[in-house]
Amino acid sequence: MHLTSQKVFLHEMTAVEPKTDCPHIKSDILDNWRREIVDVSKPCFTCHDVSENWRCLECNIVLCSSYVNGHMREHNQQTGHPLVISFSDLSFWCYSCDEYVISPVLHPIKVSVYVAKFGELPPDYHDASITNGDDVGGEGSSANPS
Ligand SMILES: [Zn+2]
Ligand SMILES: [Zn+2]
Ligand SMILES: [Zn+2]
Repeated sequence: MHLTSQKVFLHEMTAVEPKTDCPHIKSDILDNWRREIVDVSKPCFTCHDVSENWRCLECNIVLCSSYVNGHMREHNQQTGHPLVISFSDLSFWCYSCDEYVISPVLHPIKVSVYVAKFGELPPDYHDASITNGDDVGGEGSSANPS
């Protein structure tokens, strides 16, 4: 049997290992997230720059990165909202941890941004439960009555 080492591939993808136990990721974060449709082309709310924006996972505001005018960092300082996702590389940043973070809780958010950005599901999308909540059982639909 051939054991292709996919871990090498993953390490090339992420130069920085994200933190896996950020305590600021709350389970109700998805409810906040779903209140607004994902629009990755949305400009920074403050300076209208479109080059590199983040979205706050707490209140859904879209603001620019530290490489532009740092308005998301400013937002964090004013509101204390710690978690944001990048529209550029789909990474999560926690201002409170001051680190990149990742969690299964955040996975549906990442998938929804990926779909908004690329128009398709991510290649590493397997059986992640992004359909949680609305489980439409297809048993009642008799598709092929003979
Ligand atoms: Zn954190
Ligand atoms: Zn800005
Ligand atoms: Zn916010």
